[in-house]
Amino acid sequence: MSTALSTTDAEAFADQVRTFLAANTTAGKGRNIDAARDFQGRLADAGLAGIPYPSEYGGAGLTLEHEKVFRQVAQEFPMMTGELVISHGMCLPVLNEFGTDEQKRKYMPDNIAARTIWCQMFSEPGAGSDVASLQMRAERDGDEWILNGQKVWTTLAHVSDYGIVIARTDPDQPKHAGISMFIVDLRADGVEIRPIHQIDGGSHFNEVFFTDVRVPAADLLGEMNNGWRQATAMLMYERVAIGSIGAGKVAQPMYDMLVKWARQSGAIDDAVVRDELMQMYIMESTKSMVAMRSRAEMKAGKAPGPGGSLGKLYSSIIARRFREIAQNIAGPASVAWEGTDSAEELLSSTMLNSLQAGIAGGTDEIQRNIIGDRVLGLPRDISVDRDVAFKDLRVGTQR
Ligand SMILES: Cc1cc2nc3c(=O)[nH]c(=O)nc-3n(C[C@H](O)[C@H](O)[C@H](O)COP(=O)(O)OP(=O)(O)OC[C@H]3O[C@@H](n4cnc5c(N)ncnc54)[C@H](O)[C@@H]3O)c2cc1C
Repeated sequence: MSTALSTTDAEAFADQVRTFLAANTTAGKGRNIDAARDFQGRLADAGLAGIPYPSEYGGAGLTLEHEKVFRQVAQEFPMMTGELVISHGMCLPVLNEFGTDEQKRKYMPDNIAARTIWCQMFSEPGAGSDVASLQMRAERDGDEWILNGQKVWTTLAHVSDYGIVIARTDPDQPKHAGISMFIVDLRADGVEIRPIHQIDGGSHFNEVFFTDVRVPAADLLGEMNNGWRQATAMLMYERVAIGSIGAGKVAQPMYDMLVKWARQSGAIDDAVVRDELMQMYIMESTKSMVAMRSRAEMKAGKAPGPGGSLGKLYSSIIARRFREIAQNIAGPASVAWEGTDSAEELLSSTMLNSLQAGIAGGTDEIQRNIIGDRVLGLPRDISVDRDVAFKDLRVGTQR
């Protein structure tokens, strides 16, 4: 597939995208799953969904250059697909990279058009930062695997059709080996999804219990017992997806929200507030550029590397700064709101949700560890359990 796109072709494609988005986007729908599905379906009908993926797998069969143009134009319009970041930013590239031809034909078209929603099922109560300590078991029984265990913090499991699950397939191997990845139908018998209630009034993530869940052998994703390498690849895609949301151009969405509030409350006249707003402007501009660099590397054919942790960590630092400034400017209105769809609600939910930025997708400490040893080349943490069979480790509930 060629990546070269002439200026005339790029402009014609940008016009096509702009016409579609002008007719199909509505402000305030960024976190609405039904609106996201509906929008994505229309995008697929217009031949603009899954831009760089081959048409036999439901993509548009275009180039990464087209995708870049799409991202740039999309920044001019309200975002409609915030709820598809996991389906499309994480599960789709993993299906594409590790799936067999049969799996890609079966699953990718529905994923791309959002006829199915997908979630990532890695974390367990005793395995978050150290996800290789996971205890969910997958045991082979004829043409099927039987899964038992618990996942937690699974974003959007309650609206998802499929989960990409990692489970232990060989407890005699050390903890990073002996893990495999599966595509699991979340409507299967034995899957119980319990929503977790959040501080902002929402229920975005879940506990998920697996009791004798049968998964066809054909739904093993990638190589058996190579799940750790695939999980690491998915986490890299995740960091790029989180760290480069809206990476089409240099933008400052949180700054824009804060300026609006500062004007409304009169705080804009305060020199200290103006200074804080400028800091936010600079931080968001820098973050956009880091994100654009990550995207450009992916466009050049590089798999996302540990550099994705930079954007992810910076998003979290910006979220913390946003919280402090929002509290100064808006006072109680930054944590409590009335009615729905109000500007107050948007500010408060962004404020309250900012607390998760330093945890979801790997905590700040873990990003700093990754940047330390894999970007800066500092010595690695001492690891005492790398060569011990998993069954002999004292992790989670295993004693
Ligand atoms: C909003 C949200 C959405 C999420 N969505 C999903 C999802 O869809 N799918 C999924 O699988 N998971 C999801 N998660 C889970 C997330 O990946 C984990 O919460 C995260 O990896 C941290 O794991 P933990 O909560 O078990 O904390 P722990 O790993 O127990 O960490 C506790 C503290 O110890 C620190 N720490 C741990 N190890 C080290 C170390 N080696 N060096 C320095 N400090 C360390 C951590 O930084 C943290 O401060 C989500 C979490 C959130 C908040």
